[in-house]
Amino acid sequence: MKYDYIIVGAGLFGSVVAERIANILNKSVLVIDKRNHVGGNCYSHVDPDTGIEYHVYGTHIFHTSSRRVMDYVNRFTELNGYHHQVLTVHNDKVYQMPINLETINSFYGTHFYPQDAYEFIQQEKARDAVASPVNFEEKAISQIGRPLYEAFIKSYTAKQWQIDPKELPPQTFSRLPIRFNYNEDYFIDARWQGIPINGYTDIFNKLLDSEKITVQLKCDYFENHEQLFYNKKLIYSGPIDQFFGYKFGRLSWRTIKLETHCHLGNDFQGTSVMNYADSDVTYTRIHEPRHLHPERNYQNNKSIIFYEYPEYNPQDPFYPVNTSKDKKKLTQYKELALKKQDLIISGRLGSYAYYDMDKTILAALDCFDKLCEEMKRS
Ligand code: UDP
Repeated sequence: MKYDYIIVGAGLFGSVVAERIANILNKSVLVIDKRNHVGGNCYSHVDPDTGIEYHVYGTHIFHTSSRRVMDYVNRFTELNGYHHQVLTVHNDKVYQMPINLETINSFYGTHFYPQDAYEFIQQEKARDAVASPVNFEEKAISQIGRPLYEAFIKSYTAKQWQIDPKELPPQTFSRLPIRFNYNEDYFIDARWQGIPINGYTDIFNKLLDSEKITVQLKCDYFENHEQLFYNKKLIYSGPIDQFFGYKFGRLSWRTIKLETHCHLGNDFQGTSVMNYADSDVTYTRIHEPRHLHPERNYQNNKSIIFYEYPEYNPQDPFYPVNTSKDKKKLTQYKELALKKQDLIISGRLGSYAYYDMDKTILAALDCFDKLCEEMKRS
């Protein structure tokens, strides 16, 4: 059968675009995914042993300040009110993350008030005087000073990204706020945050629930593209370098590996995510999903936990690393993509961008708007 649109990837980008095309344009869409489930890396699943819903590819917290995104999401789910807090272990002591007044006072053994802490950190930063930071390490030292960087950021980042932090872009550090008050909300700037009340997979089932949408799972685009026909466009949300057969070389990516354990007792670590900042601990963090749904009040005296290890799996990239070497290749791939009229490449893997979920939804809504404009013009 020939569909109007073919979408590669049933993750957030692909599913939102499919929903829009089906419900607004009333056109047919085939959505394919090489995995055996929809939802991409947002996929959630209920553990049959404990009844706890967990995020199969690592903890995902929805957060946004975009009214447009929130209005869209509200049509498919309610959020459960969960607010994300993260702790980090350094030298066997637990600290709050992102770095806030509590972290600073615990680390330096002080009792600073906000203004004292601010002035103290200015002095710490001045000791290294990085005027225009050009990489992750310089950016971090220019924001928090070297001692905090070396305690909480340097080894964690080297472990997580498997490269020297000097090779990462400054923007990756900019994801982490620093504050001079006791607010330990990870996403303090987000107007809305939480976990979908019925889990993430439920949203995808709703997004893709249309007579106009056909979903084909366990279908690898690269093994099947010769049999895939469309009238209008191919919308591809997989890795951009793979789409072009790595013509300009491979971009750098990272994946994560999660090791599952069952803890006997209803609470293993008292929080949903505990980071491990030091290099002698091989895992980067431990996830305990029961804490993501406090409203469910799980009563089972067992908790499922996941140890996260760094990994690069070329078959399954999760995060763009974005080194300076990647920039040139990415520009070449993007130029090539622009030359193809009936092709759109986007989403986190397609754009090679460290998008959060809200940015991915926004990219999908914008992509749909562009499709509509093109249709009007033609
Ligand atoms: N980071 C760190 N220590 C931490 C938390 C984060 O060094 O305890 C660094 C790390 O390099 C990470 C970046 O800050 O990739 C951005 O953190 P974020 O929480 O956004 O990462 P994510 O949750 O997406 O893995």
